[in-house]
Amino acid sequence: MAGEEVHRHTKKALAGDVEALRALLNILTGSGVPVAVYAAYALVYQFAMNNLIDVSEECRRCGGRCCREGHPVPLYSFDIEELVRNLGPGVLAKLIRSGDTWLLPRPCPFQEEWRCTIHRFKPYACLSYPFATEDEQIEEMKRYRGSGIPKLRVPPGCPAGEKVKESVDAVAEGLRRRLGRDPTPQELLEELLRVYRG
Ligand code: SF4
Ligand code: SF4
Repeated sequence: MAGEEVHRHTKKALAGDVEALRALLNILTGSGVPVAVYAAYALVYQFAMNNLIDVSEECRRCGGRCCREGHPVPLYSFDIEELVRNLGPGVLAKLIRSGDTWLLPRPCPFQEEWRCTIHRFKPYACLSYPFATEDEQIEEMKRYRGSGIPKLRVPPGCPAGEKVKESVDAVAEGLRRRLGRDPTPQELLEELLRVYRG
């Protein structure tokens, strides 16, 4: 897998495809490269945020800040394909064209009050925020040496991220006590699935 194909696969995993995530974790941890191991843990936290832990109350309280503030978000070609497939070609008028790239403006045109109106096919960047967003994690990523659960960063003013970090850390701590060591990303994922899905 290379380039955009990796991101397409990652989007599938972050949107809830457990098998896609398992495959990705095996590739990332198999490399043994610290930045890849960090990414593997980050994907597990992000998967939990997107699919296992209800953060709707936290996002409502925050008012959907991450969809309103910040620079326009770059979109992949598969994001555009999904948007056009679901909303028709007219959707392109809501986006920003920059050379060969399409960007999602902020405030986002698909936000209503604090909610996302295109939840089922939201772009890769939205499914990645904040644990699998490189810009948010880069400093911790550089510090990480490749062993144990990294200290994932939660951006200031993101109560949903705080809730997920606390919840996943608590599951990891229980597992750490049982195993006598930090769980791998794969072990952490399986335990989260057991705890939240039974
Ligand atoms: S993910 Fe964080 S910043 Fe974004 S709406 Fe939810 S609480 Fe707010
Ligand atoms: S597409 Fe949805 S999740 Fe992404 S920025 Fe817009 S409202 Fe937020």
